[in-house]
Amino acid sequence: MSQYDFDLFVIGGGSGGVRAGRISGGYGARVAVAEEYRYGGTCVIRGCVPKKLLVYGSQFAHDFEDAAGFGWTVGETRFDWATMIANKDKEIARLEGIYRKLFENAGARTFDGRATLKDAHTVLIGDKSVTADKILIATGGHPVKPAVPGAELMITSNEAFHLKEQPKRIVIVGGGYIALEFAGIFNGFGSRVTLLYRGEQILRGFDEDIRSHLAGEIGKSGIDLRCKTDLTKIEKTKDGALLVHLTDGSTLEVDAVLAATGRKPNTGGLGLEVVGVRTDAEGAVVVNEYSRSSVENVYAVGDVTNRINLTPVAIREGHCFADTVFGKKPRSPDHADVPAAVFSQPPVGTIGLSETDARAKYGEVDVYRTSFRPLKATISGRDERVMMKLVVDAKTDRVVGAHMVGEDAGEIMQGLAIAIKAGAKKADFDATIGIHPTAAEEFVTMREKVKA
Ligand SMILES: Cc1cc2nc3c(=O)[nH]c(=O)nc-3n(C[C@H](O)[C@H](O)[C@H](O)COP(=O)(O)OP(=O)(O)OC[C@H]3O[C@@H](n4cnc5c(N)ncnc54)[C@H](O)[C@@H]3O)c2cc1C
Repeated sequence: MSQYDFDLFVIGGGSGGVRAGRISGGYGARVAVAEEYRYGGTCVIRGCVPKKLLVYGSQFAHDFEDAAGFGWTVGETRFDWATMIANKDKEIARLEGIYRKLFENAGARTFDGRATLKDAHTVLIGDKSVTADKILIATGGHPVKPAVPGAELMITSNEAFHLKEQPKRIVIVGGGYIALEFAGIFNGFGSRVTLLYRGEQILRGFDEDIRSHLAGEIGKSGIDLRCKTDLTKIEKTKDGALLVHLTDGSTLEVDAVLAATGRKPNTGGLGLEVVGVRTDAEGAVVVNEYSRSSVENVYAVGDVTNRINLTPVAIREGHCFADTVFGKKPRSPDHADVPAAVFSQPPVGTIGLSETDARAKYGEVDVYRTSFRPLKATISGRDERVMMKLVVDAKTDRVVGAHMVGEDAGEIMQGLAIAIKAGAKKADFDATIGIHPTAAEEFVTMREKVKA
């Protein structure tokens, strides 16, 4: 019998923690988990899932407009924010219940409350003290606001999901995927959206063609995208609106300002320094390839380690942890070629290297690129273009990057990701017959290299 109350204590019931706890329980470990907010974590409660539901909701505006070209007369339409949010909340509550059950079904003990470390084997939750052989930190991250006067008047993605009223005019600050997704959501619901980004171009780190193509497309959608522009100050006006001062000296009067300016790992006040768990300059827990921290029995997975901050990555890290520590099958998560989507409108799908990174890594690369008007837009009359791109290592003919801006980009990219992970060559893409008529078939019909 172990000298500890549990074999594993998981701090944080989000994507990574739930998977790790559940699989460890399946291996026979006695597991406990503490969650200070709601089971399911960021992804389920105030991230991926509610975000995608809002994206779906906001896309109806497009569909109503496009219908006319196909002969439909759509009557007067009206959008009710309160209904959308209430229905979203109902679904999220259902999912939260499922996540909690997943733990309980694995025989895990759940603690509702904030957990901190007292020493390397002791966790405090309120006035309870619990011991465990292994401790897994899966506490995720939190949004950070820019340090400007009036920052307290800003909301973050956390609050955006629970606004009582739809802001009719909103400024969104940031050029990353969360900023772009909320810009599309509020724009679709009919808010007037200004997107401020202090850098040269949105989506830093993505392929240059994705960045420029998406910037053009969202401009057409009515979002007022202002790159190289930041805010300097926010004030409340007499009538309760917000006055946003910009670096170019102009001002904007809006109903809400959403900061989508980055996230930081949740490591503050956890007691890590007492135990000797090393963190980096960003506050992320430093781990090895098996997600083990600088303290032998303390592990960390997910956003708190700031490796690749995506749900499926956190889940994989959690699963690998359980296999390694309790399943006697040491397995480290593979962070190469992780596909990703941005649920902007239009969306982005991407896997592998950008053209710039591929050139830096392989020297000579072949690039195949196409941009076309999708079939649906011919009749709807929508001014919309899809962009697709393949980046190929010229020496080996291996496809090392695939990128797309256009409808269903995320869905299409998941299939391509398998091919690329399996090491597919351009010749394999060429040998594959397309599915007609789809946009996706363009990925197997591009023959002309882009001239250098
Ligand atoms: C707006 C938004 C949209 C996103 N969209 C996507 C997307 O489309 N696709 C995608 O793959 N990823 C998306 N992400 C990222 C994704 O949500 C995260 O990568 C993922 O949730 C990380 O999982 P995790 O287990 O590391 O942490 P989390 O899911 O954040 O879970 C951490 C949990 O720990 C709890 N906790 C923290 N400290 C303590 C403590 N001391 N004691 C007890 N409990 C504690 C928190 O309450 C939380 O529930 C999005 C994120 C945001 C913010």
